[in-house]
Amino acid sequence: MAAQETDDHKYVYDFSEGNKDLKDLLGGKGANLAEMTNLGLPVPPGFTITTKACQAYLATGREPDGLAGQIEAHLRALEREMGKRLGDPGDPLLVSVRSGAKFSMPGMMETVLNVGLNDQSVVGLAAQAGQNDRFAWDSYRRLIQMFGKTVCEVPGEEFEHALDEIKSAKGTHDDLDLDADDLRGLVDAYKKIFLKHTGREFPQQPREQLDLAIRAVFESWNAERAILYRRQERIPADLGTAVNVVTMVFGNLGPDSGTGVAFTRDPGSGAQGIYGDYLANAQGEDVVAGIRNTVPLQELERLDKSSYDELLSIMARLEEHYRDLCDIEFTIERGKLWMLQTRVGKRTAAAAFVIAGQLVDEGLIDLDEALHRVNGAQLAQLMFPRFQLEHEFQPVATGIGASPGAASGTVVFTSARAVELAAEGRSVILVRRETNPDDLNGMIAAKGILTSRGGKTSHAAVVARGMGKTCVSGADEIDVNVPAKRFTVAGQTVAEGDVVSIDGTTGRVYLGEVPVMPSEVVQYFEGSLDPEHIDNALVRAVHRIMTHADGKRRLAVRTNADTGADAARARRFGAEGIGLCRTEHMFLGDRRELVERLILARAEGEREAALAALLPLQRADFEEIFREMDGLPVTVRLIDPPLHEFLPPLEQLAVNVAVAQERGEDVAKEEALLAAVRRMHEENPMLGLRGVRLGLVIPGLFAMQVRAIAEAAVAVVSAGGTARPEIMVPLVGAVQELETVRAEAEKIIADVVGDSGVEVLIGTMIEVPRAALTAGQIAEAAEFFSFGTNDLTQMGWGFSRDDVEGAFFWRYLELGIFGISPFESIDRDGVGRLVRIAAEEGRAARPGLKLGVCGEHGGDPDSVHFFHEVGLDYVSCSPFRVPVARLEAGRAVVETGGSDSR
Ligand code: PEP
Ligand code: MG
Repeated sequence: MAAQETDDHKYVYDFSEGNKDLKDLLGGKGANLAEMTNLGLPVPPGFTITTKACQAYLATGREPDGLAGQIEAHLRALEREMGKRLGDPGDPLLVSVRSGAKFSMPGMMETVLNVGLNDQSVVGLAAQAGQNDRFAWDSYRRLIQMFGKTVCEVPGEEFEHALDEIKSAKGTHDDLDLDADDLRGLVDAYKKIFLKHTGREFPQQPREQLDLAIRAVFESWNAERAILYRRQERIPADLGTAVNVVTMVFGNLGPDSGTGVAFTRDPGSGAQGIYGDYLANAQGEDVVAGIRNTVPLQELERLDKSSYDELLSIMARLEEHYRDLCDIEFTIERGKLWMLQTRVGKRTAAAAFVIAGQLVDEGLIDLDEALHRVNGAQLAQLMFPRFQLEHEFQPVATGIGASPGAASGTVVFTSARAVELAAEGRSVILVRRETNPDDLNGMIAAKGILTSRGGKTSHAAVVARGMGKTCVSGADEIDVNVPAKRFTVAGQTVAEGDVVSIDGTTGRVYLGEVPVMPSEVVQYFEGSLDPEHIDNALVRAVHRIMTHADGKRRLAVRTNADTGADAARARRFGAEGIGLCRTEHMFLGDRRELVERLILARAEGEREAALAALLPLQRADFEEIFREMDGLPVTVRLIDPPLHEFLPPLEQLAVNVAVAQERGEDVAKEEALLAAVRRMHEENPMLGLRGVRLGLVIPGLFAMQVRAIAEAAVAVVSAGGTARPEIMVPLVGAVQELETVRAEAEKIIADVVGDSGVEVLIGTMIEVPRAALTAGQIAEAAEFFSFGTNDLTQMGWGFSRDDVEGAFFWRYLELGIFGISPFESIDRDGVGRLVRIAAEEGRAARPGLKLGVCGEHGGDPDSVHFFHEVGLDYVSCSPFRVPVARLEAGRAVVETGGSDSR
């Protein structure tokens, strides 16, 4: 039965009526119980009340019309099937009432067992259980306890307390030492507690018990812990839960009964085998409560061979049927096996790949399906070094997991010290309040970066992700004092030279060394592990699935890289070109002085001299990158950030000048610098003199870069290589800006390339909303567009990308204004719409216009799917995310039915 064919007023489904595809309506548990019933597996009979009934109840505060009658009819049918009546004094039918939402929410919602027991039927139950009074009274006390707590909000501790009292009166700690009389006494005590808190007697009417329990399960959807869990797991708040009413079976009827859980493969590693735990003479909640120790499932073979064999054959059957790892709950009642639950089991990232590979080998799924079953987030997890034994350490602070991985090392506070210690072969963690472009060398030298300020798109975070380096940002419990070379956290002081460990996935910070192990998957991508010749199931599975993804994908994957080393690494990771080479870091370090000269130049000659000195340096930068990317396209972006970023900070300079003046030193140069810094000061530099605007107001700056690019390309080609440069103009908002830059650039290019055969494309970033909205005009002057979704998000939302994540995103996430930072995953409705408009209008104006994206979103799994849908040609992302983007680009094709969506 397909979900859309269901009758809107049918609120109750017998297990024989549903199937596994009806999770929306029957919840995960109900849908799978139905599936197993229809497979002929031994499932205790029962029925499911739909999520629609729950939604109606939550909306109106009462059961929808018709529900009570449908429950009655299904209950009668169940009674006929079982040959027993609910709560019958002589031979009672008992049921459990269990929640079961579409998505598993472990332990979040309610269950009531043994519904149908009362003062009379408890006697009947004892008789039916072979005069087992103890069992019957124990079941009754459990009902009052669970019902009281769940349905009537009686504080659970009161029941625990009464139980403890009886045990201590008897001088024992073990429930099993209580006999029938003790438990009868406990039932009396529980009833009194119930009366005290609710003002009424414990309900003796079985149907009333059932109705109240069903209502309580509905209401548990909105329990505070369930709301919190949903928010965290991004489960929609309006789904509601289904309620399963299931015939009780008992695992606590003696040594030939018991209960257990099983997995059809190891959910940790994916290895094939039998994994699970069994507890004889117990009910499910005893396993969870850890009252007694479970035994490995294999022990069941000795205890009850026939149930064990049956269970194994059911597990094989379920795997074949679901074509996936299943997890299972079962109960054995006096030698008879019952299946209480199954579902496709959760697994680790490594197991996801390994299992998908195995299932292909077994012929259960094809490679498209294998690709569908893994994802980029899992691959990313497998690419980072991990802490071993992290659980044995206590974090001292938690910041934002800004760039995943695990790193341990000696604390340093300056870039220079990081470089020094790294040169001695030491692992260092660079700790800063926040980083800036001057910290680049230190960041390269460090194993990890820890900052007390900034979010996921702070400088530290973006640069660290680009380098694949572990970073925790915004750990605001840490108070960093760079001049004193120490930080304080949780009342402790950590000085330069002390060791800390940071986890860039969880954001946790530890004092001391937590041992780290490298990623085999990275070793494979780096080419140092050959999947054909090693016995490593994970690496083989990753290799196989990645090869398939590459065969499937339509999107090309490029990288954002601005050094030869990054370019080379990205190429090994599968990058098919550079989508963004930021040129600004090439103006730092030793070249800072030249840049200062350029900025301070008063006369044309001075500026030209500074540019002439920069030209050969830039040419060498580009040559290195073109050589590494031989044959592949390289998009070089002309300089983008406000120039004052290359000058010393105003306050520091002002103090230096004042001190020097005081001492009577010659401060002419510093004064000129200070005047320039004052002149160039901007209140909103990200919206100020940057990008194309710089090129239009600083004569010769872009021309120098264009010449360096063209000359480098010619040099590489003359040496027998192939250079495919693409010049990209940043921050364009109007076609006239681009036309002006283009006219100048074309002349220089024509002059330099001559008949060398070098072809240079000129295109633009689309990162200002106005550019997206006038893309048709801009395309007239651009051979390609590359979406700068960082700035497009910043300007589309009006969110300062360096400030907002730390400042108020927590509140936006809490309020559900968005479920994830729009700087991390593309906001499809707003910023995404700008991308869509620009892609369509750009291509309409210039068919064949090449389209790519180079903002951080280019390596985000969900965003990659969006860019595939919109029909871009490529995504460009940091080297480390290249494999993730390749995988997701392949998945995007499989998930849209293999179609080319352009
Ligand atoms: C962008 O804005 O998306 C972009 C790639 O440029 P940057 O991050 O350097 O501003
Ligand atoms: Mg930008």
